[in-house]
This record gives sequence, structure tokens and C-alpha cells, in this order.
Amino acid sequence: MTQLHRVTVLAGGVGGARFTRGLLALLADAHPGADVTVVVNTGDDMWLNGLRVCPDLDTVMYTLGGGINEEQGWGRPDETRRTSAEIAAYGKGWDWFTLGDLDLATHIVRTELLRNGATLGEATEFLSGRWQPGARLLPMSDQPVETHVRLRDAADEHEAGSLIHFEEWWVRYRAGVPATEFVQVGLESASAAPGVLEAIGDADLVVIPPSNPVVSIGTILNVPGIGDAVRETSARVVGISPIIGGAAVRGMADACLTVIGVETGAAAVGLHYGARSGGGLLDGWLVAEEDADAVSQLTDAGLVARAVPLWMRDVPATAAMAEAAISLVSPPSR
Ligand code: GDP
Ligand code: CA
Repeated sequence: MTQLHRVTVLAGGVGGARFTRGLLALLADAHPGADVTVVVNTGDDMWLNGLRVCPDLDTVMYTLGGGINEEQGWGRPDETRRTSAEIAAYGKGWDWFTLGDLDLATHIVRTELLRNGATLGEATEFLSGRWQPGARLLPMSDQPVETHVRLRDAADEHEAGSLIHFEEWWVRYRAGVPATEFVQVGLESASAAPGVLEAIGDADLVVIPPSNPVVSIGTILNVPGIGDAVRETSARVVGISPIIGGAAVRGMADACLTVIGVETGAAAVGLHYGARSGGGLLDGWLVAEEDADAVSQLTDAGLVARAVPLWMRDVPATAAMAEAAISLVSPPSR
């Protein structure tokens, strides 16, 4: 395998973070000195109790920095929720979304930096100074681009057809109330954060990890310039299926795919991203062993595809997935 120097990953929260942790373990062994940039979804960001909360950036930062709650996949271990309970006693905040006391410190520091004029990228770099994630973390944009969900029917205090924040649909309603579309509020006036387009254009390899294809990866790709940068990069582009055996592995990604009219299947998601030869994004698409049937369909569409184990059980299993993804799109070394 040719030596990799610059690898760029587009990531959501838990799936993107866990995959990147395995990728970093592999690169440390097989491609020492490779620089990794992670472009992170900020569509889930929100203001809560006066604080700027960036769920996916924090999940990636804590996971790569050794500060993640492993069972939960997000937040800090050994958390308490005393502050959230006090806020609830005032009848403020969202009672279905609590923030842990340790986690709150991150939001407080971030908010202070932003209020003093830092960009989100600068604030992220500052926070990363503590966690040392072993990769450069970039928000997809410095401007707020928050994903909202249009409700088909009325729900609690919301009228039919109204827009609610993605986190409310996801956490409060567990993606269980019908939605008709996702709207990225602020998208038209947003641009890619400094460094993002360069990281994609100058990479040897761009990786689309097993993140939610709609509200994590789709959100990033819609930021003006980012989708085109992936389509036009000279890097090889490889993706890993977040769908195994027709089901979203964790979470409710199937509900998001349904909203945009894509079947919950490993082949369907690969074809949704599309082959570069047909104007799409991907050179290669890795599917799970359970989906070995999908390989010929993907190959017919112009993708290099292979079926391997895709359960991110632990770091070694995830590193093996990263190795399979890299070799899928690497010319054989001579
Ligand atoms: P979120 O922002 O926390 O929802 O995280 P992401 O968007 O990065 O990733 C969520 C997706 O990761 C889920 O919808 C799953 O489809 C996928 N996922 C989670 N665990 C695994 C796993 O072990 N293997 C694979 N292939 N996909 C996974
Ligand atoms: Ca997320």
C-alpha cells in the first residue's frame, strides 16, 4: 500500500468518532506521520440555556481524546446532572435534554470564547488543546447551519407543518413522529470553515465513515463548496456503510433515510452517494459481510466494493475496517 500523508474524514457524532478512533490506531501503525483532519457536522448545534452546544464536535473530541462515556457513546463518564436539575426547577431549558455537569464546562468555555469573538473553528482548536484528539478537528462551517425537521402532523405544542430543531425530533420524539423534510437553517449564507476545502482538496484519501448519511454526512456535503470539493479532489474517496443487514446499527438513521426517500440498505446508501465515474462522490464503498449480496450491484454502478465485518466492537476491529477501506481504494504497492 502506498504511504498515506494526508487523510480527511467527514464525520457526525458516535459513528464518525468511533471509526476515526480505529483509523488513527491503524495509521499510527501502518502510516506513521500521516496527518488526519476531521470535518465535523455542526447541524445538530444549538443554543441551550444560553450556551452553545455542539454535540458532534464534542463526541469526536471526547472519543479521540479518551474522555468519552463508552456505554452511552456521547458525553463524559461518571457524570452527574445536578445543574440540569436546578435549571429544570426554574422551569427553563428543555426537560427532555439534560446536560451533564462535566460536559457543561465544555459548553461554558466554548460560549465564552465565541462571545469574545472567536470563530467556532478557533474555539474547537482551543478545546482540542486539552483533549489532544490526535487529529485536527474542524467544524464544517463557522456559521450556524442548524438542521430543522418539518413535522407532517401536529405534535404537543407544535402545529402540523412546523419546523422543529433536529435535536428535538431526535431526542424528544426519538425520530418517531413523521417528518416531511430536513431544512438547514442558515445554509444559504454559510461557507465552509477555514481549512475545510483545502483539507479535502489536498488529501491523499477522503473517508466517509459509517455516520448518518442524511443528517451527518448529507448536512456536511450541503455546505456550499464541500460537496464539490469531494467530487473534485484528486484524493481517493472511500465510504463505509452505516447500514448492516438493512438496519441502522445504532440510532434511528432509517427514519432519516425514509424522509429523503432512500431505502435503508447498504447498496442504496452507497448508490445515494454515487460513483465518481457517474458524477457521485465515491471510488469505493465497504459493506458488511451480512450485505455481501450488494457487492455486484455496487460494482455494476462503477464502485469498487467489498464485504467485510463492519461492527465497531472495539478499537482493533475498527482499525481492521479502516485497513479494509484503505486497501479497497489503494493501488497495489510495487
Ligand atoms: P451521531 O451524530 O451520534 O448520530 O453519529 P453518526 O452520524 O456519526 O453515526 C451514527 C450512525 O453510525 C448510525 O446511524 C449507525 O448507522 C452507524 N453505526 C453505529 N455503530 C456502528 C457500527 O458498529 N458499525 C457500522 N457499520 N455502523 C455503525
Ligand atoms: Ca449528530
